Amino acid sequence: MYRSHNCGELRATHINTEVTLSGWVQKSRDKGFIVWVDLRDRYGITQLVFDEERTSKNMMEQAQNLGREFVIQVEGTVIERASKNPNIKTGEIEILVSKLTVLNEALLPPFTIEDKTDGGEDIRMKYRYLDIRRNPVKNSLIFRSKVSQEVRNYLSKQDFIEVETPYLIKSTPEGARDFVVPSRMNEGQFYALPQSPQTFKQLLMVGGMDKYFQIVKCFRDEDLRADRQPEFTQIDCEMAFVEQEDILNIFEGLTRHLLKEVNGVEVDKFPRMLFDDAMRLYGNDKPDIRFGMEFGELNEVTQHKDFAVFNNAELVVGIAVPGGNSYTRKEIDKLINWVKRPQVGALGMIYSRCNDDGSFKSSVDKFYDQDDLAKWAKITGAKPGDLVCVLSGDKNKVRAQLSALRMELAERLGLRDPKVFAPLWVIDFPLLELDEETGHYHAMHHPFTSPKPGQLKLLDTNPGEVKANAYDLVLNGNEIGGGSIRIHDKETQAIMFKHLGFTEEEAKAQFGFLMDAFQYGAPPHGGLAFGLDRLVAILGGQETIRDFIAFPKNNSGRDVMIDAPAAIDEEQLNDLSLKLNLKS
Ligand code: ASP
Repeated sequence: MYRSHNCGELRATHINTEVTLSGWVQKSRDKGFIVWVDLRDRYGITQLVFDEERTSKNMMEQAQNLGREFVIQVEGTVIERASKNPNIKTGEIEILVSKLTVLNEALLPPFTIEDKTDGGEDIRMKYRYLDIRRNPVKNSLIFRSKVSQEVRNYLSKQDFIEVETPYLIKSTPEGARDFVVPSRMNEGQFYALPQSPQTFKQLLMVGGMDKYFQIVKCFRDEDLRADRQPEFTQIDCEMAFVEQEDILNIFEGLTRHLLKEVNGVEVDKFPRMLFDDAMRLYGNDKPDIRFGMEFGELNEVTQHKDFAVFNNAELVVGIAVPGGNSYTRKEIDKLINWVKRPQVGALGMIYSRCNDDGSFKSSVDKFYDQDDLAKWAKITGAKPGDLVCVLSGDKNKVRAQLSALRMELAERLGLRDPKVFAPLWVIDFPLLELDEETGHYHAMHHPFTSPKPGQLKLLDTNPGEVKANAYDLVLNGNEIGGGSIRIHDKETQAIMFKHLGFTEEEAKAQFGFLMDAFQYGAPPHGGLAFGLDRLVAILGGQETIRDFIAFPKNNSGRDVMIDAPAAIDEEQLNDLSLKLNLKS
């Protein structure tokens, strides 16, 4: 038996008990006549003691030679500690060791296995198994497990059943490139790894499963913007005989359950916001509503003067920065440079200071008088002491730019408290989105999303205006999930494919199986998927998802620990009838 207890378990009540423990040497302190060793495992740290008086010379020497991260087993007696350590749960006791066995020696780890390590990101990724021994990563993985379990608890209680769907499939468009896998048995043919199990979960509804969920890996070959992973995990769900309202209620319930069980936080009913309002008020379809600073559109009160910049702009829009009038000229200049960075891309920023005496001082006093500036303040909700920041230009671009500024300022002002949770449903997304480059429409959510009832005809005349039964759950400015009510009849699905630029043949070749299924009694259905990695990170109060993934990939999609992706040998290529045609 390797252990009778774990390293986080023993208390004063165990004093005089004979125990066996196994674990890693966290550190040792050698005073010559006495040696203390901190023994660590997943559950905690227990102090071991060896001393001249009570320990054989042999074992004393053995203890003195223990290196960091050696794996050892000890037998001994639980004794009361002379100087107690209130910071750890086992701090009242120590183990007087009677037998020490080295189970495995260890090389000196390339970074310290401490909460605050000296190892940089790259080296920690290469030795991820050592990183996982550190509390911050270990606890994040434990936290993730707890969230997954609570998801299963809640959904199972609601009669959802967990069904696995295949990984070797045909493309399911979720807006990214597919990862493909060559098939040896079918020369020249490829599987695609699922971008999501979308079509399968719909087929499960046709199959009468009624309520499905799965905690499932999805694969998307896209350029990895910060904090994305090429493979990630979704809580994927689908229900039959439901309307949008049913789905929002169930998954609001799930989110509330998680916040309560995992974070001990109770939240009110989630507010709902139309997509159009989210864009107008926050310039963003995933607004962080932990704080205000809503947009105020200023076109009407700015375009009657000689200020060409505003007169020529499709949108003039501002926000009030609480307390911003205290910024020095230099600080404001810095802010202007911040919005002009290529990542934000604004051409400039106009501002108006709201003085305590009710007067204003703007960077465009030449064009706008006090009455004008008072209107700016009113529309943006600025109070004396605030600063109104105004951007102008192309509507979509300006909204994105001001949204970036809003988030940045909120961060600086400490308004994004990770302990505060502000969930929000954003509903009524457009069905289609115009690709500015190609001039083609593509599905904003995915091609299986149904238009709002009665809007099908509008597809022919004003496709950009058609709204969908599609919704996103937003938490603290992050999209944590999204879904839709689906199309469930062949005709509508065919119309949809046509509008997305598929010929009839293409649609049949790619999605014939789904259209066929719709002819055999498809129930009305809908669903959604939550991104588990991000959800866990937010509930865990962190910005990045990496620590919540046991073996994440880096920004180039590499696993630097196992060194993947990697070349395959000639023989494997031959088996697959593949020839490389490398560009570089
Ligand atoms: N398949 C969708 C996604 O991955 C979610 C859904 O519509 O249920 O975003």
